[in-house]
Amino acid sequence: MEAAESIAGPRRVRLFVADDWVDGVGAEPLRVTSPATGEEIALVEQGTRADVARAIEAATGALEPLARMTAFERGGLCHRIADRLLERREEIARDITAEQGKPFRSQALPEVDVAAEMFRDAAESARRLDSAVHPSSDPAKRVLTIRQARGVYGIITPWNFPLAIPSEYLSAGLATGNAMVWKPSEWTPLSAWHLMRCFLDAGVPEGTLSLVLGAPDEVGDEVAGNPGIVAIGLTGSSRTGELVARRAAGKPMLLELGGNGPTIIFDDADVAKAIRQTAFGSFENAGQICNSTERILVHARLHDEVVAGLVDEAAKVRLGSPFEDETTMGPVANEPTAAKMDSHLEDARERGAEIVFGGARAGGFPTSLYYEPTVLDGVTTAMRLNVEETFGPVAPVLTFSDEDEALAWANSAPFGLNGSVFTRDIGRALRVAEKLQTGTVNINETSAYWQPHTPAGGFTGKKSGMGRIGGIYTLLEMTQVKTITIDIEEGSS
Ligand code: NAD
Repeated sequence: MEAAESIAGPRRVRLFVADDWVDGVGAEPLRVTSPATGEEIALVEQGTRADVARAIEAATGALEPLARMTAFERGGLCHRIADRLLERREEIARDITAEQGKPFRSQALPEVDVAAEMFRDAAESARRLDSAVHPSSDPAKRVLTIRQARGVYGIITPWNFPLAIPSEYLSAGLATGNAMVWKPSEWTPLSAWHLMRCFLDAGVPEGTLSLVLGAPDEVGDEVAGNPGIVAIGLTGSSRTGELVARRAAGKPMLLELGGNGPTIIFDDADVAKAIRQTAFGSFENAGQICNSTERILVHARLHDEVVAGLVDEAAKVRLGSPFEDETTMGPVANEPTAAKMDSHLEDARERGAEIVFGGARAGGFPTSLYYEPTVLDGVTTAMRLNVEETFGPVAPVLTFSDEDEALAWANSAPFGLNGSVFTRDIGRALRVAEKLQTGTVNINETSAYWQPHTPAGGFTGKKSGMGRIGGIYTLLEMTQVKTITIDIEEGSS
């Protein structure tokens, strides 16, 4: 079955602030067009700094009711949100595809499932978020710790998983009793609107969540900097991470930023598997995943076989309307992403890389955002493809001669999110995994492989962020530990 191809006119998306859907008093509504069809799909009201302030006030008022609820009750709300997401699964997935461009059946529907599972996981984890009674060095004292919500959180999220990434924060935040002011990506307002509705339908206490839409340098900046917001959760680019970290200096921050996924294929690897997995990591979601495979380091002995294999895999990609079931890759989500692909490929060409497959925007589609899956050979560490995040459907091959060289090149990039190693030698696999400067290493698996309940995040010293997101790790980040000491001595006063 195919999802509806046409999108029925632009929808007006309003802010939800202080328990009311409101119009923006900021700039003119933002017109959002579908990368898939070019149709105007949303007119997005634009908020201001004053809306953030009102959202903070409402959130502050929600803290006490949230604290009065047990973890079991807040978990119940999370389960209700998951139920609502699944009831509206098709409708939500259609909008994800319309505004982001990922294939409806194979990627947008599963994103709704993942988001729902995040709410269920947070509900269950919150019930088990126990803490300790500590051995005391003083016989007259008992010492225990409790975990408490941090307070009013600012949540800032990107467009590449417009439902799942917000769900990571909003589920953990609700389950642990935080109130949240959320600024979603300006490119994907419809997913945000759906999630906000699910929160309201589940019956969360007034003020628990506000949806503040608007310009990044106004609404986003205010969410980061306003002292009424005491902690920040941001998923976005490394540049935004730096800006937000400066504005939010001193606040607890969970920053999930960019990556450029090094993948090392050693000469003893299962080559067919390595090629398949690597191509998946480069082309899934048109390469717009923080842990996409963006640098493929291949041992010289396997070079020809791997390059030929990647070309075969690229040729199998069905680029087309993301509403059609046969399509495996839709358009990239927006013009800045396509333009970055253009400029990275241009830089690579100028510096001597060879484009062996694709390499350009594809013609014959309703928009200019359909990009050919691209394979490059002869890439070097000096190229922008190696030192920046491309975030497009690209498989760049670098050729190494030994383990030390592979590791040095893999670690030469400023990012350190996910890496991957293909080898049949368990000793080498673990040695390299320990030395790769990434927060996650997948062995004999694509860099893009990820289980949502496991910890993900950047390697310290790189530009991929700080803290760990995923399952109970998000709950730990979004709570603070309080130590309580009790004197049990009788009549000491
Ligand atoms: P982006 O940094 O452009 O935007 C992310 C969010 O930050 C948006 O809501 C945006 O409006 C907001 N923002 C931008 N400038 C701001 C400012 N000055 N102050 C406050 N907020 C601001 O990122 P994007 O293009 O939406 O998303 C893609 C990026 O996200 C990639 O770099 C990708 O690697 C990264 N990402 C990381 C992870 C992870 O888990 N590490 C996951 C997904 C995406």
